[in-house]
Amino acid sequence: MEEKLNTIESSDLSHYKFSEIFDLQVIQKLQDLFSAATGVASLITDPDGTPLTNPSGFSSLCSEIRKTTIGLSNCMKSDCIIGNSKIDGPTIQRCLSGGLIDGGVSIIVDGKHIANWLVGQILDEDYELEDLLSYADLIGMKRDIYIKELMKIKRMSNLQFENVCNFLFLNAQQLSKSAMKNISLTHEIGQRMINELEINQLNTELEKRVVERTTQLEESNCELEETNAVLEEEVHERQKVEEEILKLNDELETRVAERTKQLEESNGVLEETNAVLEEEIYERQKAEEEIISAKEQAEAANAAKSQFLANMSHEIRTPMNGIIGMTDLCLMTELKDDQREYLSIVKSSTVALLGVLNDILDYSKIEAGIINLVNLPFDLQKILNEVIDLFNISATQKGLRLKSNFDRTIPKLIIGDFVRLRQVLSNLLGNGIKFTAQGEIHIKVDVEQQDDHIIKLRFVISDTGIGISKDKIDKLFKRFSQVDDSNTRQFGGTGLGLAISKNLVEMMGGEIGVESQEEVGSSFFFSAVFGHHEKHSKLSNIMETDFSHNDTTQEEKSERKKVLVAEDDLVSRKLVTIFLEKNGFEVIAVDNGKDAVLAFEREKFNLILMDINMPYLDGYTATSIIRLKEQDRRYHTPIIAMTAYALKGDREKCIESGMDDYITKPIEFSQVLEKIRNYVKSETKARN
Ligand code: ADP
Repeated sequence: MEEKLNTIESSDLSHYKFSEIFDLQVIQKLQDLFSAATGVASLITDPDGTPLTNPSGFSSLCSEIRKTTIGLSNCMKSDCIIGNSKIDGPTIQRCLSGGLIDGGVSIIVDGKHIANWLVGQILDEDYELEDLLSYADLIGMKRDIYIKELMKIKRMSNLQFENVCNFLFLNAQQLSKSAMKNISLTHEIGQRMINELEINQLNTELEKRVVERTTQLEESNCELEETNAVLEEEVHERQKVEEEILKLNDELETRVAERTKQLEESNGVLEETNAVLEEEIYERQKAEEEIISAKEQAEAANAAKSQFLANMSHEIRTPMNGIIGMTDLCLMTELKDDQREYLSIVKSSTVALLGVLNDILDYSKIEAGIINLVNLPFDLQKILNEVIDLFNISATQKGLRLKSNFDRTIPKLIIGDFVRLRQVLSNLLGNGIKFTAQGEIHIKVDVEQQDDHIIKLRFVISDTGIGISKDKIDKLFKRFSQVDDSNTRQFGGTGLGLAISKNLVEMMGGEIGVESQEEVGSSFFFSAVFGHHEKHSKLSNIMETDFSHNDTTQEEKSERKKVLVAEDDLVSRKLVTIFLEKNGFEVIAVDNGKDAVLAFEREKFNLILMDINMPYLDGYTATSIIRLKEQDRRYHTPIIAMTAYALKGDREKCIESGMDDYITKPIEFSQVLEKIRNYVKSETKARN
């Protein structure tokens, strides 16, 4: 407890007043008893001298003195000095106002001076009256009154008074200590009360929160109960489902077991089947490999066959050239009627044979992929007229009419391969005439589509012939296909014409087809794409050359034109030479390109007919050299190539090497004569 008290800070006590620390009634009683016992006056004041208790045993002298202003002031001053001068013992001194002996002690609680306990108004044993009277004078009191009052004052030895004061000092100290204890206890109690209050407050808050929390918990409890009910329901459902699943599982297991048994059984069967199938696959693979290799062999054989056919027909055509040419020449001589007839038959037979050869050669070239189309400007109307003219004779002979219908909006010049177009037209027109006994053949040309770059034309060749049955139409455009063997015998033919036409038409960007009705007639149609003609091209100039008029002037006829023929094949060379000489030309013939160049250097020619394949120098090189040498001379010698039947790139090569034109072998003299005459005529004009 002592320890606890010591820990209380002094600041805790600083605000206490004397009256709050001590019970004033008890103190007053103590003070009164003390005065009564000792005969010593007593009073308790605050440190400034203000009385805190009622005075006990006060003398009338002091009461009189305190009635005067100076007396009261000096009295209080004196009290203050006594109370405040010492802390370790009582103070004893003479009063400043009345001259009596006073004593006093300070009451100090926890270092704070809170009051003075004063005692006194004693007359000491060795006082001098004369000395004391000066006090009466000081405070303005009459001396006699002073002396009279002084005689009432209690006398006490100094030692007695010292004992009284020491008693007072010890008493004051004990008071202080018990006051201190009292304060600490009061403070502790106060602190406890505060703590209690705080605890009560906390308690109230806690209770409030407990109530709130309880409410919350009750609410969430309700929710949990609901959830619980739902979960229980769900668990129940799941249990039901689980039971069903287990049941299904059992069923499934039974079925799987059954199925496994079945599968094991069928597995055995399958393994057997597998083995059979593997065997079969192996056989098939082997067969496939054999088929592929057979196919490759067949393709190789087919290519070899095509190449062989191309070579053969080319080789056959060279002697054919001789036969036809020589027959022509013979027919130009004087002959007996029967001789002329025989030779005419020879001629027509060879022409027919040549047709067959051309078909085979064409088809084999198409199959071997060595045919390329050329794009040159040409006059479509003119090509059509040529074809119609060609077939007019045979049509007339059969009593058939040949009609044509040409869309006038088609441009005069278009770009394409007119040789191949003529071939397709000839084929279809020839067939029309061949398979029609009476009526007419009609050729119609229309524009199917065009834009800035291309023009697509549609050609229709209709006849009133035997027609083709529906089931045969599909086979028509396949090679070697003829609708009826009996027809073949009746009409002849190779069965290649339509297959060749189909290929050529497709190469020209078009399609070919037929509509036909037996005993009514057929209508063959095809389309082809051509380019628009661009002016000023070198090629176009050549093709635009107008061969229509052949009015040879008297002057031209009178002078024999000189032609150089360069040809290594003896028969062909002889044929051309004889033919040209018979038609009034002077001919110099050489058998190689080198001699052709030498001849050109030696003398001037009006025209050169140049073969392509020759020893020493071929036709292209010889032409290039001639064109180089010509640069020093002031004229241009027309050079016409004599090419084999339109091989890939031949025509372009001819033009590129400097040739003006070309004619194909075997040479159809009646057709090329006009061309030769025209070149000679224009060459003469240019030279003049
Ligand atoms: P061919 O040289 O045999 O005439 P094509 O390929 O030109 O060969 O013709 C094949 C077959 O198509 C002919 O043999 C004939 O049976 C039939 N054919 C072609 N054109 C006509 C047509 N205008 N009228 C009737 N049948 C035709």
